[in-house]
Order: sequence, then structure tokens, then C-alpha cells
Amino acid sequence: MRDIRMVDLQLQYQKIKPEIDKEIQNVLESTAFINGPAVQRFQADLESYLGVKHVIPCGNGTDALQVALMALGLQRGDEVITSTFTFIASAEVIALLGLCPVLVDIDPNSFNLDVQAVEKAVTPRTKAIIPVHLFGQCADMEPLMALAKKRHLFIVEDACQAIGSTYRFSDGRVCKAGTMGDFGCTSFFPSKNLGCYGDGGALFTNSDELAQKARGIVNHGMFVRYYHEMVGVNSRLDSIQAAILDVKLRHLDEYAEARRKAAAYYTKAFSPCEGLQCPHTAPNTEHVFHQYTLLLKTANREKVIAYMNERKVPVMIYYPVPLHEQKAYKDERYRKGDFPVSEQVCRQCISLPMHTELDEEQLEHITRNLLEAVKLYQ
Ligand SMILES: *Cc1c(COP(=O)(O)O)cnc(C)c1O
Repeated sequence: MRDIRMVDLQLQYQKIKPEIDKEIQNVLESTAFINGPAVQRFQADLESYLGVKHVIPCGNGTDALQVALMALGLQRGDEVITSTFTFIASAEVIALLGLCPVLVDIDPNSFNLDVQAVEKAVTPRTKAIIPVHLFGQCADMEPLMALAKKRHLFIVEDACQAIGSTYRFSDGRVCKAGTMGDFGCTSFFPSKNLGCYGDGGALFTNSDELAQKARGIVNHGMFVRYYHEMVGVNSRLDSIQAAILDVKLRHLDEYAEARRKAAAYYTKAFSPCEGLQCPHTAPNTEHVFHQYTLLLKTANREKVIAYMNERKVPVMIYYPVPLHEQKAYKDERYRKGDFPVSEQVCRQCISLPMHTELDEEQLEHITRNLLEAVKLYQ
């Protein structure tokens, strides 16, 4: 059996090596390393894949979120609502800009924002919501967008884990993750569903005005060369990464299918097991399984992890600590116990290996050992 990894980029690269190597070579020979034709091409290809008017490439997913909040013109002290169960970047950019992060709990099935909790958290100072499409499925955008409209709030989707996922509205309209809010943000970090071979990210928007603003902000607040209209940042996707991404974009749907197939194998094996909660897939979103995250409802997590690791199965805890219990984000507004769903999920979650190259032998090994461990340590 091949070694099992959380993410197997080696085998994935081997399969597309000729295409990738050729594109990298082209950039090397062109020497157009920054803002070259490869960047323009990838931008256009991603726009048409997503069905969104504008893609603005940038340096990474965290920058994409920061630039989105800057482009929306939020002011110091404005409140921005996001999930307490997410990767830190979603809240980090809010704090970094001097805005006020307002954390809310999650839905126990999807692990995405609990819409009723968001509604309760809105105050007259609230300016935006950052729904995180966690682990690869969309947050419940229809009620969130209705709430945003009613209370005049912006929506910045954190689609870093969900590129390619779709959401279906009750009128039948289907949108890709990141294309529904005022901005959508994604990351091309190597292990993300569309990952490059370094750092990269992008913003998506259907607004010409916001796109123009974001393009200026990622380029030092410069709209006319050497005239700086606002304080910006330097955040670019380089040409080599764009060329790699353009190749991988052509495989993205087939990659998502491979992830869904692995997820289906897991769920079939685990769903009869009372001690495990398999990922729920909401009926109106297509899951792209950035992670396959289970809850261990009764078993001792440390012992299960040790058992798995001894049998050469890596497992990870995404995430062990909710944001309101992180040292850097401790705040007198929040106490342990305030967000019981997130706290419980942090105590019980484990994520299994999930990538495009899992084969049946590996899946069999992983599922058999987890079922044994759960039985042993319940
Ligand atoms: C990866 C990730 C980010 C940040 O992306 P980087 O490219 O690493 O900066 C932000 N939010 C979520 C939910 C992520 O998973």
C-alpha cells in the first residue's frame, strides 16, 4: 500500500507533470514573472469557470479577505460577524483592520454559520458578515443574504475551502461558492482544492466598482501609475503560480469528483457506527470535501488518534480551539460555554486523509482502523 497522507500532492503532480512543467517553462522563458500573460489567462479562465464578472488575483487567501474589507470602506470599530469555528484568518483580518470581530456559533450539522445566531448578533454597528464555507460546502446563503439585505450589511464569503462548490437558491438559481456575496475570497495554498505550488489567492465580485477598487488596493492603492489614492497593500499572484493554476483549473471538477468518491466510501463505512457523526451534506449545496471531518461522539479522541497513527494513518484536528478561546482573541464579551456547538465540535472532531489520489486499498485500511479504534476506545 502507498503511504497514506492527509494530502497527496506528489502523486497528483506526477499525473499532470508534462502539462505543468511545460507551462512553468513557458513563463521562465518569457521572464514575465509578475502580471504576465499567464496571470491574465488564469484570471479570465477562472471568471468563466465561476460565472463571475471579476476575479482579482492576489498573494494569498488572507490578503483576499483583508482587501475585500478594505474595498468595502469599513471604518474602525465597525462590527463584522463571523464564525467562531474557522481557520483564524477569517477573524484575523477583521482585527488587523481595527474592525470589531463579532463571533457566532455554528450549525451542528454543517458546521457553518448558524443563521439565527447571526441574526441575534446584528447591532446598529454591524457592517458585514463573513460566512465561511467550511470544509467544502456552502453556508446557508439564501437566509444570510436576505438578512444582509434587510439590515444593509455587506457579505464577504470566505470560500478558501470551497472553490467549485455550488449553492442552489429556492428559485432554482445555482451559484458557485464565492460568487454570491459582495466579495468572495479564495486561497490557492497548495493543500486547498485548487492549490498552486506556493502562495496565492483571489477575490471574486460581480461589481465593476468593487473590482476596480480591489485591483487598486492590491497594487499599493494605485489606480494611475505612481498616483496613490488610498493606502493599499502589495499582494500579487505571480505568473508561475498562475500558469500552474490554469492547468489545475482544467482538472478541478474531476478532482472534486475524486474527493466526493472518497467521501462516499467513508460515509458508507461509517454511517452504521453509532459513535461517529459523518459529515452532513445540506441538500442545497454541493460539497467539494476540502476536509472529511467526523465527530467522535463517545470515543476518546487522543487514544483514537494514537491508534490511527500507529497504523500509519495520519489524522488531524481541524480545529482544536474555537476563536473565542484563542489567546489572541480573548475578549470580555465571550466566555467558555457561550458557543456550545463549536466547543463540542472542537472537542470531538477529527479529519481523515482527503485528497484526489486516495485509492480503495487506502480507504479500506483507514475505515477499518477507525472503526476498530472507535469500538476499542468508546
Ligand atoms: C486557508 C484559509 C484561509 C487563508 O488562506 P491563505 O492563502 O493561507 O492565506 C482563510 N480562511 C480559510 C477558511 C482557510 O481555510
